[in-house]
Amino acid sequence: MKTAELRQAFLDFFKKQGHAIVPSSSLVPADDPTLLFTNAGMNQFKDVFLGREDRDYTRATTSQKCVRAGGKHNDLENVGYTARHHTFFEMLGNFSFGDYFKREAINFAWTFLTGKENLGLPEEKLWVTVYASDDEAFDIWNQEIGVPAERIIRIGDNKGAPYASDNFWQMGDTGPCGPCTEIFYDHGPDVAGGPPGSPEEDGDRYIEIWNVVFMQYNRQADGEMLPLPKPSVDTGMGLERITAVLQGVHSNYEIDLMQALLKAASDILGGVPTTEASLRVVADHIRSCAFLIADGVMPSNEGRGFVLRRIIRRAARHGNKLGATKPFFYRLTNALVELMGDAYPQLVSSQKQIEKILLQEEEQFAKTLDNGLRLLEQDLAQLKGTEIPGETIFTLYDTYGFPVDLTNDIARERGLTLDYEGYEKAMERQREMARGASKFGIDYNAAGMKFEGKTEFTGYEHIDGHEKIRTVVV
Ligand code: ATP
Ligand code: MG
Ligand code: MG
Ligand code: MG
Repeated sequence: MKTAELRQAFLDFFKKQGHAIVPSSSLVPADDPTLLFTNAGMNQFKDVFLGREDRDYTRATTSQKCVRAGGKHNDLENVGYTARHHTFFEMLGNFSFGDYFKREAINFAWTFLTGKENLGLPEEKLWVTVYASDDEAFDIWNQEIGVPAERIIRIGDNKGAPYASDNFWQMGDTGPCGPCTEIFYDHGPDVAGGPPGSPEEDGDRYIEIWNVVFMQYNRQADGEMLPLPKPSVDTGMGLERITAVLQGVHSNYEIDLMQALLKAASDILGGVPTTEASLRVVADHIRSCAFLIADGVMPSNEGRGFVLRRIIRRAARHGNKLGATKPFFYRLTNALVELMGDAYPQLVSSQKQIEKILLQEEEQFAKTLDNGLRLLEQDLAQLKGTEIPGETIFTLYDTYGFPVDLTNDIARERGLTLDYEGYEKAMERQREMARGASKFGIDYNAAGMKFEGKTEFTGYEHIDGHEKIRTVVV
């Protein structure tokens, strides 16, 4: 089954069960300052869950565009390293607004995955987790569905646990949340990794495909959990992950859609093997960048635009690593539009704009990329130990426009770490200077800082909880 067919099969299945098919909402959340980008199917229904908004249906199904780069669910640094994470992906979901609850939600999921007339997956390959104290969900899985107790794992809030799972889903620091039950697919002993809840679970053998959340609370800023007006259901299944299962491949990057993008990227970059990790980064990033621009995000030095800029620069750096000597990323837009334009016509109408913006960004960054990399190489040649000094990170950011996560990406490839504290100190020094400068009207350069006319201070911003100085590379 092709990716596009699977998307349709999911929506059709839930339509048959009385769900309204609702279009994906924008990647830029409407009127929700608590959220950087749309990160789950439930976002557009947040007010319905909270009882603030009524719709003319109580069951809905969607294929939702999601971006997880920055914010609470941030997968940017996983991309290229795991088989299952993208910055942009589609989340298939079914929702109940005070209609059905645990029993039906679990039954729907199981029927879609294993039903002979549906996906027909072998039951013994599926593992499930439930929230540690949720006996009701455990019993439904075990006694009604018939999943053996050894393949049902109880997982709690992950407070200090040595594994990554956390069976209490929340959209952000505030908002609708609740205990969940997750379904995993075992890709077999050829792939490294342990079952959910084990210390090895971060491998890619047992891959989480579907998360079924029993929405019961509205989390307040002070942590208090108020009950929702009606218990509801929110589910999310990664389209690319379930497609991988159906296509008999283990990695999301091996499905038809991603292979076509990898092939297009390889052609543009002069035949780089499609198995290169950097090529995966490039093929992944074109989707988030193009879809974000189509939804109106522009590269900038703050907020959403800065995240977009960081993703573009990361793609440019990986292209450079693969030998690109001139802008290449924007040229991938065409392949993406051909692959996904039918499902998302907005991509087609925005193609020219996407190409123009990406090209501009690539050209701008190309001016400093080589020099920044050279500086980094010089510093690394003299490096004692395995930590890149804060001054270097700061100069790369401030003078050469390397966002910190980009420097970290390079460091990780070489088994090095970053001196974040030193970086923050360097940042703080510049901040002091800027404050002094504005107070006494002193020219930055005259204050003895190494600006070299390349950056311009434009204020402060908050990204991922860190205050960062805003500069424009000119
Ligand atoms: P993981 O533990 O693998 O990071 P998650 O628990 O963070 O996934 P959820 O928030 O439960 O993911 O999202 C629902 C579903 O969306 C997941 O079960 C998975 O199929 C899919 N998904 C989540 N993050 C990504 C991603 N970065 N790329 C592709 N699919 C994803
Ligand atoms: Mg995750
Ligand atoms: Mg998970
Ligand atoms: Mg999950």
